[in-house]
Amino acid sequence: MPQTGNIIDGKGMAAQIRSELKATVQTLSHQGTMPGLAVVLVGEDPASQLYVRGKIRACEEVGIYSEQIYLTSDVLEEEVLAVIDRLNDDQKIHGILVQLPLPVQIDPDRIIERIDPAKDVDGFHPQNMGRLVIGQHGFLPCTPHGIMEMLKRSDISITGKHVVVVGRSNIVGKPISFLLQREHATVTMCHSRTRELAHYTKQADILIAAAGKAHLLGRDHISPNTVVIDVGMNRLQGRKVVGDVDFEAVRELASHITPVPGGVGPMTIAMLLYNTVEAAKQRCKE
Ligand code: NAD
Repeated sequence: MPQTGNIIDGKGMAAQIRSELKATVQTLSHQGTMPGLAVVLVGEDPASQLYVRGKIRACEEVGIYSEQIYLTSDVLEEEVLAVIDRLNDDQKIHGILVQLPLPVQIDPDRIIERIDPAKDVDGFHPQNMGRLVIGQHGFLPCTPHGIMEMLKRSDISITGKHVVVVGRSNIVGKPISFLLQREHATVTMCHSRTRELAHYTKQADILIAAAGKAHLLGRDHISPNTVVIDVGMNRLQGRKVVGDVDFEAVRELASHITPVPGGVGPMTIAMLLYNTVEAAKQRCKE
């Protein structure tokens, strides 16, 4: 359980998961299957390039085969769909990830829906999302999955707890709310139109901040002994990345808190690797 004081060490926890996965990948390789991930990056967004590099590096560390497909920002939607079709048919590839956001001429829903759900290691395909909502087995989206894993590995019980989620996006807020309900939490959803945000956040046993607003939540929003999970990654003008929570202001109040960087981010990548290995295992069973 990597933890320093009340700080949940996502970086250390993710390293532990990668080393567990490395052993699984070795076993699979001996059995003749090397898990493979394809990452499609459209355009030259520096943040997306950074995320993709991090994912590829993590694959290398664990022994997962990876392919990067770079497309220029003026690429047509049909061309991206053709790449997805090719990857869907490629036996070396078990997982396909299309880095978001995409340029305006491309409809992300059309692209995601084209990915074979059995290779949808981001867990964004409507089939996998639907399975998550009704409690069936499927690929879980990496960030919410990473948060659940963090809570489990920190021995934080969820049953009966009041969890307040700030943010209702399809990739974080909504899916984490369903995963938490699966584990018997009582969940309150807050969003940009919520009035008196602090009224809700102060009632949280566990607070999950996923709004994408630097330091949205400070001392006035948090009651003593709250577990604070900060998903936010907000780049300030000086290039520093900060969370949605004012870490220094609330760290003494919180029973546990995740730092930014080094909290949820590395766990997200670890769960992407986990899903890729799962996809390879599933194929072995077919
Ligand atoms: P999004 O923009 O799609 O959604 C933001 C949500 O926050 C919306 O539902 C909106 O209603 C809510 N919101 C916005 N302002 C608010 C306010 N003032 N009060 C209450 N709610 C408010 O964002 P997203 O894709 O869910 O990402 C959220 C943040 O998490 C971003 O900073 C993003 O970079 C980060 N993120 C981090 C990881 C990771 O691996 N660490 C992964 C995904 C997203």
